[in-house]
Amino acid sequence: MLPLEAVREFVLDRCPARTPVSVPVADALGLVTASEIISAEAIPQFANTAMDGFAVRSADVVDAPCDLRVIETIAAGHAPQVTVGPGEASRIMTGATIPPGADAVVMVERTSIVTDGPASGDGAAEIVRVEVSVPSGNHVRPVGDDLHAGTHVFGVGTELTAGHLGVLCSLGMTEVEVFPRLRVGVLSTGDELVDDGSPLRPGQIRDSNRRTLLALAHRADVIPVDLGLSPDEPDKIEAAISTGIDTCDAIVTSGGVSMGDFDYVKAVLDRIGDMRWMQVAIKPAKPLAFGTVGDVPVFGLPGNPVSSMVSFELFARPGLRSMMGHPDPVRPTVAATAAEDLPRRADGKTHFMRVLATSANGGIEVRSAGGQGSHMLWAMAKANALAVVPDGDGVRAGGPVDVLLLD
Ligand code: AMP
Ligand code: MG
Repeated sequence: MLPLEAVREFVLDRCPARTPVSVPVADALGLVTASEIISAEAIPQFANTAMDGFAVRSADVVDAPCDLRVIETIAAGHAPQVTVGPGEASRIMTGATIPPGADAVVMVERTSIVTDGPASGDGAAEIVRVEVSVPSGNHVRPVGDDLHAGTHVFGVGTELTAGHLGVLCSLGMTEVEVFPRLRVGVLSTGDELVDDGSPLRPGQIRDSNRRTLLALAHRADVIPVDLGLSPDEPDKIEAAISTGIDTCDAIVTSGGVSMGDFDYVKAVLDRIGDMRWMQVAIKPAKPLAFGTVGDVPVFGLPGNPVSSMVSFELFARPGLRSMMGHPDPVRPTVAATAAEDLPRRADGKTHFMRVLATSANGGIEVRSAGGQGSHMLWAMAKANALAVVPDGDGVRAGGPVDVLLLD
């Protein structure tokens, strides 16, 4: 058996980042920047008010309360028309430009209107009473308060989240240079599998892996491509994989990589690609076939439903993320405490136990999510983490344990 880290290194070495492309910002969520983002503009580009209120000259309100003549109303998106002179104020809405002459804003809650009337013309002027004195710059957002022009905003290798996309839009960018989103084909193999909801004949089971792996691929920010279901027949497996090679950047298969008589996936891949057949010192997900057909990485995951998910998590997800330019493609582990015994038997393998992680006493506490068999998908579905239990007889309640937090 091979250690997990060695196998993962082997995988990552064969999953180099793809050639960068420029994509619309609208399509860039979850992608990784391939060039540095430098701000071409300041944000904000003009001094504006953080509050609804009155733009004033701070020198005028030193002896507040005091009364000022209202000369204009300035809405967001509209340029001020007049300069605020001594004894004057402009009513102003959040986000609107600070008018010339004014250097501070008094929030509307600290003012009252003492005479109503048109702000200009022959009628009585509108007078605002300012109840507090404010320093120069009060509630004013100066030019470049968020970002100055020429700032190194995001480096190469930044995963673009919702907030990042917002910043790119704020800077007026419509395209961004990133590592391209991969198309990842997912194929189920097995004579026993049914995927149409029809009644099962003796020995048949339903295909759960394809939906699970397509969903995990989606969550890994790739484009999942359904390559369907193939029976354990070399010709059909080869046809499905060939379709995947022609249309995808990477392929994930499940089933057919164990020691069984009809495990043809490896045989087919051996013939058409450069594959390694590996036994990894982990449980679940010991068997793994990995290699390339042409330059398309192929992950041959084991068929047991929990094994296929854990194998995706430990090998396929890091490999795919590496191809998409993630500088740290492997999910980090975090330290936790076992809230109950997590028993296991010594077998030379690291066990990845399905657990529920909750926050407790300022840290993370884990308890079993249910049955730990590699066919027991229910507990995997309920788990939000995998406890990394080293070889030995397990972790006692209260003991430390590392966990991989899942999505
Ligand atoms: P294999 O890796 O092909 O030897 O399959 C191991 C176990 O996983 C067997 O019990 C299979 O029936 C089961 N299995 C394989 N593929 C799937 C699938 N797509 N969905 C659910 N179970 C599967
Ligand atoms: Mg099989």
